[in-house]
Amino acid sequence: MTMITTYENLLNILAKAPGHIYWKDAKGVYQGSNDAQAIFLGYKAGKDLIGKTDFDLPWKEQAIHLQQIDNQVMETKKEYSIEEVVSNYKGVKTIFLSRKIPLYASNTKKVIGIIGISLDITASKQAEIAKQQFIMNMAHDLRTPLSGIIGIAGIQADQGTSSQDKEYGLWILNASRQLLELLNAVLEVIASEGMEEPISEDRIDLSLLVRELESLIQPSIIAKKLKFECISDSSLPPIISDHIQLKRILLNLLSNAIKFTAKGGITLEVNLLDIKNKLAKIEIRVSDTGIGMPKDELNKIFDRFYRGHPSYQAEYRGYGIGLFLVKKSVGLLGGKISVASEKGKGSCFTLEFSFSLAEKTIEPSPELPQLSLPQSETNKETKAVLIAEDNTLVLHAVKNILIKLGYEVITVTEGKAALEALQSQSFNWVLLDIGLPDLEGTEVARLYRQWEQEHNKPHLPIFALTAHQTAEVKEKCEIAGIDYILNKPFTEKDIQIIKLFIENKD
Ligand code: ADP
Repeated sequence: MTMITTYENLLNILAKAPGHIYWKDAKGVYQGSNDAQAIFLGYKAGKDLIGKTDFDLPWKEQAIHLQQIDNQVMETKKEYSIEEVVSNYKGVKTIFLSRKIPLYASNTKKVIGIIGISLDITASKQAEIAKQQFIMNMAHDLRTPLSGIIGIAGIQADQGTSSQDKEYGLWILNASRQLLELLNAVLEVIASEGMEEPISEDRIDLSLLVRELESLIQPSIIAKKLKFECISDSSLPPIISDHIQLKRILLNLLSNAIKFTAKGGITLEVNLLDIKNKLAKIEIRVSDTGIGMPKDELNKIFDRFYRGHPSYQAEYRGYGIGLFLVKKSVGLLGGKISVASEKGKGSCFTLEFSFSLAEKTIEPSPELPQLSLPQSETNKETKAVLIAEDNTLVLHAVKNILIKLGYEVITVTEGKAALEALQSQSFNWVLLDIGLPDLEGTEVARLYRQWEQEHNKPHLPIFALTAHQTAEVKEKCEIAGIDYILNKPFTEKDIQIIKLFIENKD
């Protein structure tokens, strides 16, 4: 039998091993590599790399950064994993998943350099980016016509010529809303697996957030004849966190509490536990008197797609992703979530966060509570608004809502026409779709703001309407001077947001 593991053979195995393997001394001088690493850098074999440093290689601009990582590995004696983008000898950019570990002198604890292993993940990264792009496009392409259907079905349900007509409208409305809900849920999970949304640092007034949530869930509470109690410390300080994420977390827990409760009520409790080192420790509890859960289910409910009641039982609708996303968002905000529950007796979800305190002087965040205002308020005087939206279904639906509320509505389907209308007529506010065919909504806003300033006009409230509110869209809107972004489908609730926004600005 031939011996495979001879010294010669070991060297050969190392040289031909897949992936990129390399080792450097404590000063960052390469002491060897496998052939793949050498070939990537324009050499023939590993031995050609001996004596070189990162400053001699095609990635010399990144040499200082690479050295810092090596030093960290040697100092901390801890391995380090990183995704790095570097160029090969032909200048082709390649993405590597690299792992660097300390290299010890034989049989000692003395670190004499580092060993690195890097895997080329360019293809899978590109596929991931393409997938993200596809999802974002699909989200937009499906949501936009669906919002149109929802809008028109709403009109038919409301204004149909016969009761049969109205009933059909209502059916289409309910079915398309369900479809939109499903689409949003699936897209949310897929998107959450890819690029992480950056966390924003908003100033949050927790008691305002509680009021906002209260008004959002009120209709379901009333519909199910439940009681809703809100207990919040009067001394809650303004804090810094991601407003959208926090609202999403609480809304999910509250919606579940309502869904799984038939009798009794829901309680939302916000307590300030302590303030130390500019950090406010806050505990938030969402409890209900609903169906509860058996003990052995409690460790499964945060799993993706886990549902206590599968859809064939058709008792409770859901996709089993709410709590999965809640846990993920809580983690992103640096918090903890736990649950206590007993079958038949109700459930209690407890969140604990350490939020940074907000400076008292910062402007309040533009997120506003959706308080229900009396309808008559909207009809006091005729207000002219401009809507720019290229999807005629959506346009018609939005226009109908506004006309019903007594607005005088001018509509356009292109960006340039919107800009012309804004410069020639006066409006109380404008609603711009972001994806207009000729000029993007953000571009219309930017050009109008410029004109507004040059002509000393008062600030016109500009609202954007979008099917997907990504961080990128948000940033673009902010730069363009858009005051507030609304999500499709546009509903009467959005008018209240607009009204509150305008009133708060005055
Ligand atoms: P979904 O509600 O869409 O099924 P979730 O991830 O939000 O998905 O919840 C997962 C499961 O956890 C639910 O199917 C249900 O069995 C259980 N659950 C969540 N919240 C409650 C609650 N407040 N009361 C009882 N069961 C709950």
